[in-house]
Amino acid sequence: MAYLNENYSKLKAGYLFPEIARRVKAFTEAHPGAAGRVIRCGIGDVTEPLPAACREALHKAVDELGQRETFRGYGPEQGYDFLRQAIAQHDFRDHGLDIADDEIFVSDGSKCDCGNILDIFGPGNRVAITDPVYPVYVDTNVMVGNTGDAGETGAYAGVVYLPCTAENGFVPAIPKEAADLIYLCYPNNPTGAVATREQLAAWVDYARKHHAIILFDAAYEAYVRTPGIPHSIYEIDGARECAIEFRSFSKNGGFTGLRCAFTVVPKSLHGQTRGGESKPLYPLWLRNHTTKFNGVSYPVQRAAEAIYSPEGRQEVDALVDFYMENARILREAVSGAGLRVYGGIDAPYLWVRGPEGVPSWTMFDFLLREANIVITPGSGFGAAGEGYFRISAFNSRERAVEAAGRLAALDFTKAG
Ligand SMILES: *Cc1c(COP(=O)(O)O)cnc(C)c1O
Repeated sequence: MAYLNENYSKLKAGYLFPEIARRVKAFTEAHPGAAGRVIRCGIGDVTEPLPAACREALHKAVDELGQRETFRGYGPEQGYDFLRQAIAQHDFRDHGLDIADDEIFVSDGSKCDCGNILDIFGPGNRVAITDPVYPVYVDTNVMVGNTGDAGETGAYAGVVYLPCTAENGFVPAIPKEAADLIYLCYPNNPTGAVATREQLAAWVDYARKHHAIILFDAAYEAYVRTPGIPHSIYEIDGARECAIEFRSFSKNGGFTGLRCAFTVVPKSLHGQTRGGESKPLYPLWLRNHTTKFNGVSYPVQRAAEAIYSPEGRQEVDALVDFYMENARILREAVSGAGLRVYGGIDAPYLWVRGPEGVPSWTMFDFLLREANIVITPGSGFGAAGEGYFRISAFNSRERAVEAAGRLAALDFTKAG
């Protein structure tokens, strides 16, 4: 008899994106004339082509693999030294942050890393998760048994939910209770909020006091424009003792299809044994990564390295500028139409407060029907997202401008 992992039966059906697809399909079938007019502002995926520097590096690496003299088979599981060194140098040491090359673990995505990291933590850790949230953090904890069942509101028993609201600037207050693992993502998906140095310092203090670990998702780090806003948790004193950072080339270099990311695991991090002994986490992650993973492909790692070349940096800056100009255009349109808009300054997402009392899904239907625009309902990211919707700035300029024009012309008082 093969016994299955019954934690999976606690998972709620992946509801958000299938439900969006179902409603869009129903609408376009009922209004075939409008089908071609539909603009998707809901998806968190890049739209613009890969930088030339990355494509050149890919071509060159493929040609190397085609020659006996330069052919390569398996590479180091943790990533090639050329890439780990470029990352540690340019993303950390150039900014005065003390991260060694071998504290960088190259992978094929932050999504996998966020899930796999739970392998090195024992059962029974109490997990603190922001609400609204990127669903991966919650679901991976359900899968490993760190939660109880979901209640009527969809909240899982045993999880410390950290509400992120307009009042707290979408950066959660420090909870009174202790947590062992804390998920923070800044710049944030879905709210587009950023955390200040003081706010992150308070979380680092809390984590150190409780011997907790912060899992810091910095996938949107490249979008930070406001001076003084941290790009990395390691800008905070003491974070080397309590934080793992996840980064990805998906949103800066447009690698969502190419796949490359990395996780920073400082050697100074410790966890507790049940016997009360403090032990470093680093050897566990090294063992995990090298046992379960065989490395990112050589051409892809060369493409990631090219992001740090002078040409690559320029192209990535231009890509980020491009999406942030979309964000500006969309932001002005929505606030001009009288709605409160958050985010979109240091992140490619706008988090929009709908008219008072109008639920997120009602706004979704209203925008689809009246403007043929697809957004993501805030309630799909957690209970605290109710009444909000997310607009993504990942789009062509033409579509962003068209969507902005339609949004600006809407009478949102009719949404209810
Ligand atoms: C897009 C995104 C990532 C990156 O995931 P990859 O698997 O590296 O593509 C990580 N975290 C958040 C919150 C994201 O939105």
